[in-house]
Amino acid sequence: MKLYIDTLGCPKNTTDSEQLAGLFKSLGHTIVFTPDNADALIVNTCGFINDAKEESIDRILDLVAFKEAGALLIVTGCLSQRYGQELTKAIPEIDILLGVNDYESLPQILTDYKKGETKVLCNSAKTEYVEWGCRTSEKTSYSSYLKIAEGCNNICAYCVIPKIRGPYRSRKEDEVLKEAEALAKQGCKELILVAQDLTAYGMDLYGEYRLYALLEKLCKIDGIQWIRLMYCYEDRITDDLIRVIAKEEKICHYLDIPIQHASDKMLRAMNRRSTNASIRNTVKKLRKAIPDIHIRTTLITGFPGESKDDFEEMLSFVEEMKFERLGVFAYSKEEGTAAAKMKEQVPSKTKISRRNKIMEAQRLISLAHNTKAIGTVIEVLIEEKEEDGSYLGRSRFDAPEIDFSVLFTAAEKESLAPGDIVSVKIVDAFDYDLVGEYVEI
Ligand code: SF4
Repeated sequence: MKLYIDTLGCPKNTTDSEQLAGLFKSLGHTIVFTPDNADALIVNTCGFINDAKEESIDRILDLVAFKEAGALLIVTGCLSQRYGQELTKAIPEIDILLGVNDYESLPQILTDYKKGETKVLCNSAKTEYVEWGCRTSEKTSYSSYLKIAEGCNNICAYCVIPKIRGPYRSRKEDEVLKEAEALAKQGCKELILVAQDLTAYGMDLYGEYRLYALLEKLCKIDGIQWIRLMYCYEDRITDDLIRVIAKEEKICHYLDIPIQHASDKMLRAMNRRSTNASIRNTVKKLRKAIPDIHIRTTLITGFPGESKDDFEEMLSFVEEMKFERLGVFAYSKEEGTAAAKMKEQVPSKTKISRRNKIMEAQRLISLAHNTKAIGTVIEVLIEEKEEDGSYLGRSRFDAPEIDFSVLFTAAEKESLAPGDIVSVKIVDAFDYDLVGEYVEI
């Protein structure tokens, strides 16, 4: 069978799709990269917020057209898990609908499938992490996400993920290491660790937060040169974790720590455990232990009950803390969340103007950080060679798709390629990107 897999949403969905591809390839099927000659069209959806839901539904409807050639339409992922049968009623062209806990059942479902029937399978999460399938990364072999846990127990008031992905389940350490070694053998140089909450790793399985110990073992894998940490929860950034990040050369001095707000009143309303003081303290500890640490965070504007003062407090916090990387989202009211039932919903216009004000403040902060990089030599992972012979890549301080790029030139005689990690001298800086020249070290 020829399968086409279309992945939406977050890196965790990407790893699920790559595992699904690996499972089917291991059963002798073929993964194709255009829908037109596929026997099965799989849309791995996102159901996190309204915009993502709409994008997923549009993509499903786009692929309906390819059913004429006889292909089956299969919808998986968070939108399936969240809406199940409702989705097949809304889009009767869907042949098979699978939740996020049933991927490994798809080969058998396809074997047993009778044309014209609509098959729905949306089981709830199991109590332990289920290992299934073996990853195969079609896109790039030099950079891969590595999921170390599933689900979440934090229950933030605006978030539906715990309802979709279930309770927190850490993967067994040796399973994570086995997958990392397999990825390294496939040429992976950058491992990007992902979970809903990376820092909760191990508590459910080993009775302690063991991300630091897992990292020490991952650093021993030959071939891996960069290890990046995404989705860390502020109050679980332990001294052990900081010590290991500072000690291990392979771990990028980059930490993604979504804080969501800076006003204690709003953090409580969001059911976040952090406080303004605890965030300040963690940032101070990190910057003291790792002077070139680059902290990425995300914020939400317009959460129900957010007053002008709460917003001003967040804005001045951003101006004071000067995060190296920052994303801001206008609050999205999601049915099934505690926040959706809250009074004092903030008008969209206000949410968006507050988001824009923070982004404008951050643009100046980002330019100032980037300007300080002029004259320094940094490592860059090449992602593309441009037609004009220049190169585009990312530094140790930039995650794929969400952070900055480094555009640099090299002498024609240099045969550099995507996947190479090279040294670049920074000669110019913009709000979000850097410009440099290749230097031989
Ligand atoms: S930490 Fe909060 S925002 Fe993140 S997945 Fe868990 S509940 Fe959602």
